Amino acid sequence: MRQRLSDFPQRLKDEDNTFVMRGMTMSTENQTFAEKFDLLGCIQCGRCTGGCPVTERTNLNVRRFVYDACNEAMLDELAKQAEIWDCTACHTCAVRCPKGLKPLEVLLGLRTRIVDSGKVEATVRNALESVFLEGNPWEKAKATRYDWMEGLEVKIARPGVAVENLFYVCCTIAYDPRVQVIAKNLVRLLNKAGVDYGFIGEDESCCGSEVLSLGEELLFEEIVENNTGFLNEFKAGRIVALSPHCFTTFRSRYPGLNKPAIHYTRLLAELLGQGKITWQGGLSKKVVFHDPCYLGKQGGVFDEPRRLLKGIEGVELLEFDRARERSLCCEGGGGKMWVESTSKKQRLAETRIKDARELGAAVVAVACPFCVLTLEDAMKALGLEEEMRVAEIMELLGELA
Ligand code: SF4
Ligand code: SF4
Repeated sequence: MRQRLSDFPQRLKDEDNTFVMRGMTMSTENQTFAEKFDLLGCIQCGRCTGGCPVTERTNLNVRRFVYDACNEAMLDELAKQAEIWDCTACHTCAVRCPKGLKPLEVLLGLRTRIVDSGKVEATVRNALESVFLEGNPWEKAKATRYDWMEGLEVKIARPGVAVENLFYVCCTIAYDPRVQVIAKNLVRLLNKAGVDYGFIGEDESCCGSEVLSLGEELLFEEIVENNTGFLNEFKAGRIVALSPHCFTTFRSRYPGLNKPAIHYTRLLAELLGQGKITWQGGLSKKVVFHDPCYLGKQGGVFDEPRRLLKGIEGVELLEFDRARERSLCCEGGGGKMWVESTSKKQRLAETRIKDARELGAAVVAVACPFCVLTLEDAMKALGLEEEMRVAEIMELLGELA
């Protein structure tokens, strides 16, 4: 029988109502919600709500949630507000907050209350259970995680055997046929460039990024603990993540990792700079780069993807008005792949595609599997697939290698 979501907290908590986090034991019992999220530091300036992209289409007012959540008596009522599920965890509010707070975490903390009560949407429940049982949120069998490797020569890393670059694929890239091309093209490129690398193999499991965003805090802590122990067994110089979601999660939420994590665009930009990779053809097109929130705002990687695109002969690289730290979110993060939006207003991904069209871009280049899925869907919904293309950078580079 499948274990129910509401069993997770009991499974993870010990008798003292504490849970083990990354080698430390944290007590959750004596901390108020306001203390946990440092809410008393808020000066109610409103910069968070002012920059929040989803206010264009929903009633989410994160400043108001920060204010109201200082009152413990209001927490249950706040957790019932539908708006807490509108947040995409884009981190714009955190980037803009003058007091260094992370307002979005209040919303995720409220989601945790709902998840702990077991009263979540079936889509959310299924995704979380799938991570627990199969190591991915897509309800796919763990045993098929590496089916995408078929027909390719892929070097597999072994714990204890030294390798410079340890590749971490990501659940979405591993299972979704639309974005598997990212991993496939990367393998071909690494083999050609003679890079010292290894993929983890079938034991790779979800990094927990979306689990955290969906509010399943305790399952996330268990994932961090398990993955940290597992990844630390590999004698690698660094972890190279294919998805910005895994990259940012390792970088900011896995303090026990014994090696740094980078995004694959950083490795390729290094190889390009060293002359170890070259492209055989060009692309005479206007290309605009969409900064994924998890890569740019959260991961601080802005230049490497642009360097790769500029390295393609013929490419005219354009910039959105809202670029880099100000990039418009595509609404693919924050667990939104499993939460239906109640808003009927134009999706942000459609706004982004319209902006790209106004710029005259023929290609919207991205460096994130979720951005590919949301932006491509928006492009099709607008009937523009004859006019433009949404492509992951690795997709474009693979066509030129
Ligand atoms: S930006 Fe920071 S300080 Fe200002 S209202 Fe939002 S949370 Fe408070
Ligand atoms: S993370 Fe993004 S969507 Fe969520 S509250 Fe902050 S700015 Fe708004």
